[in-house]
Amino acid sequence: MPSSNEIRIIVCIVIGIVFFLCIIIYNNHWNGEDSLFIRTKDSLDQHRRSRHLPVVDQRKQKLLVFMVDGFSHDYVNDQNLVGLQKFMSSGSRVKHVKPIFPSITYPNMFSQVTGLYAENHGVLGNSLIDNKNNKTFDDGPPSNTEDRWFNESTPLWLTAEKEELKSVVYFWPGCYISKDGVQASNYTRYKSFYNVSDEEYKLHYETLIKESFNKLSKENYSLVLLYSEIIDHVSHLVGKPSKEFDSSMKLTDSLIEYLIKTRDEFKMTLDLNIILVSDHGHAFETPKNPFKIHYLSDYLPNYREDLEHFSVNGPSAYLWPKKDKFSKVYANLSSLEIEGKGVKVYVKGMDIPAKYHINHERTGDILLVADPGYSLEPDIAMEFKGERKVGNHGWDPDKEDDMQGIFIANGPAFKKGYVSRKGIRMVDEYNVFCHVLGLTSCHANNGSWDSVSDLLVK
Ligand SMILES: [Zn+2]
Repeated sequence: MPSSNEIRIIVCIVIGIVFFLCIIIYNNHWNGEDSLFIRTKDSLDQHRRSRHLPVVDQRKQKLLVFMVDGFSHDYVNDQNLVGLQKFMSSGSRVKHVKPIFPSITYPNMFSQVTGLYAENHGVLGNSLIDNKNNKTFDDGPPSNTEDRWFNESTPLWLTAEKEELKSVVYFWPGCYISKDGVQASNYTRYKSFYNVSDEEYKLHYETLIKESFNKLSKENYSLVLLYSEIIDHVSHLVGKPSKEFDSSMKLTDSLIEYLIKTRDEFKMTLDLNIILVSDHGHAFETPKNPFKIHYLSDYLPNYREDLEHFSVNGPSAYLWPKKDKFSKVYANLSSLEIEGKGVKVYVKGMDIPAKYHINHERTGDILLVADPGYSLEPDIAMEFKGERKVGNHGWDPDKEDDMQGIFIANGPAFKKGYVSRKGIRMVDEYNVFCHVLGLTSCHANNGSWDSVSDLLVK
């Protein structure tokens, strides 16, 4: 017969085991299918389910996200931007936002609405290549608009729609996709809109803003995602300082003022949160320091024959050599690195830095990454399709500080006149959007709640 002490120890052990099993079952239950996802993707180092967020009674709060392409973190210091200064002084902001790699538009816009790195949402560039199935997606029309390019994760607007909150999405990548029979209540596909006068651009966006407010106030929409490209476009082609750049800033500033004015006119100050974000900043060449461009053709004279596909984004490039040409392509390009020409050459599955978070089947077999100040082009004839870029982005955001973007929020959910001393990452924004809308089914993501929670009214 065991002694009473032994019985006590056995009971304690049994209770401990049962408790431990309960924790495992509980975790598996809440993580659902995402738990598998987390195990297979090391980069999901921070994950949280929205049900764990401090959800407040915000089902009545609405959200308008205005995404200003190419707005660098340091532009907020320009005191001539009256609308922006007013917006910031009554809102909450962070010092800077670190884009995901590569620091280009589509990957970052998709991280904003999913909280995921490129390896988890699959949007690895502005152009997407599925080498295995010989399919491509390009950001400019005409384009392959199959859902497959954007449906590896669930963007914010679909989660909102699933929770019966209506969304209107202007010009976001993949705004048209449907998943499980759910689609944005209203969307407009991207079509470039920059070869117009400033007046025409302003009028066009004021109309979109007015339309958005009508939807928010009269048609019971809860979410608006709106994208503007004028600053990015001018930064690439004209650069700064220039009067064209100043006028693109002034134009954007007038739209920020218009947003505030329209919110007041529609009496939505207690209902609507407006968040101004950007996808990346810009770095500029100067006459004394022009970008140093390397052409693939200098190292691979027959690159079109040697490669199945290639996707060059200035500071980075994905290459898919033909099977029998891999060694030759790799050896030729390696001289870029060996000779210290400001370009690193990586091989998929071998040495691509984990911090880039691009471990995905659609990543090129070879990745080229240029240092700040250096850039890549296929050949001189194709250089920027005839338009030299004097401003650019896409560099490793850890090496080029000018890649950092903005996050400025204004509305009932946010502190007023608050500047967080912390910077955040692009993947952190999603948790704020979910919280403001009071969504309860946002997915596990790479964002950190701790880095954004101080912006909010407790
Ligand atoms: Zn962009």
